[in-house]
Amino acid sequence: MGRYAWNDFADRSFNPAVGCSRGCDYCWARRFAGRGMHPCLDCKAFKVHDHFERWAKFRAKAGERIALAFMGDLFDPGRKSSAICDHIAWMDRKPESVYLLQTRHVRRAMKLLSMPPAGEGAPFWPKYPKIELGTSFCGPEDIANVRALGELPPTVVRFVAFEPCDSILPIPEKSWRVIREAKPNWAYIGPTTGPQRNRCESFAELLVRDIAELGLELENIGCKVIYKRSCGPDLYARNEGVTIP
Ligand code: SF4
Ligand SMILES: [Zn+2]
Repeated sequence: MGRYAWNDFADRSFNPAVGCSRGCDYCWARRFAGRGMHPCLDCKAFKVHDHFERWAKFRAKAGERIALAFMGDLFDPGRKSSAICDHIAWMDRKPESVYLLQTRHVRRAMKLLSMPPAGEGAPFWPKYPKIELGTSFCGPEDIANVRALGELPPTVVRFVAFEPCDSILPIPEKSWRVIREAKPNWAYIGPTTGPQRNRCESFAELLVRDIAELGLELENIGCKVIYKRSCGPDLYARNEGVTIP
């Protein structure tokens, strides 16, 4: 079951940028950031910081889907634009992979990704299409980011993470209008956050029904849906044969 090894939508994660200042109480990344083989104190503290040395060792493989910097937010306001552009330049040097970028700062991402890597050359996106940009929708405060996805050039693949989804379902019609305009190519849904395989304790039949309805609505607007394992076996089974984007 599931199309990909990491979280069912990526082949693996890679974290040359760690940390986020947003402080969501459901954040799994904050809990996991310091548990790596070579944990640093800044990782343990979930401080916004960079591990550029990891890029040198990163081996890109053709077509591999990389969840980039999911241990935080690459576009966090606490990270200097110059550091973000350095990461973008590294992506440009390793163009074999497809990079998935998920952020709560979509407009900043759009601005910086349009900048020429390392301050020269053509604008980034037209030159380099293998980026998928996404954001989370976990409450009304996220609508502005979803709306910003709708401003992307049509060629840019965009996704929405409905995770954790238990507090936002069912989604009100005024939010649906924004989601439809964002035209997400794909989405993932889960009542629990992160790559955990466990079922959410608060999981209830009502939630199953609401998640199923969310999935169908998304499919109706042409969005591929990945159900996290935490959605339960029946919904998870629907991932079979789904290719993203
Ligand atoms: S935005 Fe994401 S990475 Fe940042 S605190 Fe919230 S859940 Fe964690
Ligand atoms: Zn660190």
